Amino acid sequence: MTSVRRFFGNFRRRCIAAIDSHDGRAELVTQAEPVTDEQIAAAATAKLASDRIDWVRCIPFFLLHLACFAVVFVGWSWPALIVAFALYVVRMHAITGWYHRYFSHRTFKTNRFWQFFWASVGNSSAQRGPLWWAAHHRHHHRYSDEPEDIHSPKQRGFWWSHMAWFLTKTNYRSNMEVVPDLAKYPELVWLDRFDCVMPTILGFACFGLGMALQHWGYQTSGAQMLVWGFVISTVFTAHATFTINSLSHVFGTRRYETSDTSKNNFLLALLTLGEGWHNNHHHYQSTARQGFRWYEIDVSYYLLVVQSWLRMVRDLKPVPEHVVKGLTLAESKAAGPAAPELAEAARTAQPSSFLLKSREPAA
Ligand SMILES: [Zn+2]
Ligand SMILES: [Zn+2]
Repeated sequence: MTSVRRFFGNFRRRCIAAIDSHDGRAELVTQAEPVTDEQIAAAATAKLASDRIDWVRCIPFFLLHLACFAVVFVGWSWPALIVAFALYVVRMHAITGWYHRYFSHRTFKTNRFWQFFWASVGNSSAQRGPLWWAAHHRHHHRYSDEPEDIHSPKQRGFWWSHMAWFLTKTNYRSNMEVVPDLAKYPELVWLDRFDCVMPTILGFACFGLGMALQHWGYQTSGAQMLVWGFVISTVFTAHATFTINSLSHVFGTRRYETSDTSKNNFLLALLTLGEGWHNNHHHYQSTARQGFRWYEIDVSYYLLVVQSWLRMVRDLKPVPEHVVKGLTLAESKAAGPAAPELAEAARTAQPSSFLLKSREPAA
């Protein structure tokens, strides 16, 4: 009788495991043994509910994509294209230089005015507030490519890591416990709470700019500038950012033998102003630079250097010499078992993530 129950128990676990692995939820399989069937069923139900896409809250996100087709009606002009490109560069820098390197990793210092200014610019790219962004990013570094990682392509595939993860009910929440250093600023909490205000202001500003330029004799219009300057530029900024969660963990080369699948990718680095040096970043996160060598183009870092000359930021954390000269993956592999001390040196050369697993704290 016991063996029959064990057989059906195992069969049920295998069925749940098959469903979970199909949906990319392999973590339930690993904890199947020590819990009861009821607990497994409850955990599976809770997981399915929390991982469901919140379609109603996602309507603005989908409408933004749909609005790109309005280009058929409004056409194009050089002023519209230039504004779209400029807003792409400025907001990509706000995301990579500030949301990522400042709010998430604290790799330089600034004053409260510039902190709020760049948080607002980043917010206008419709990637939610700085606290939400930083909290989820710190979580990613803590659990990179492990089952708990909220946007790992290794665990859940391309579409999940690219955009599905932030459309779910669970991930709409900003976990303030992970960002206590940011949650003490009421203006940042306000931006996080009312994260639709800045994108709306930018949309109206683009429309107004288009009308003004048309009034001054340029071949454009309010609607055209709204579509190019806000809609198309925002969608491009968003998807370029998302590639770092999806493609940068799949395509590219690995200089450092980190415990995750992060890669260095020149094209993604160009597209995202430096974020494509993702393997460098996962290896050593406590620096304002992501291109560690002179030929690794890192536009966001260059822009931060210019801001340091203008006294807008200070104390940009450099890449330590031992990290630049650190053992490469090829070197540690070449050393092999014949030189275990080299392999050990390569392994221990990896500083882990900021705040949570860091051996070399960023702050
Ligand atoms: Zn990071
Ligand atoms: Zn990553």
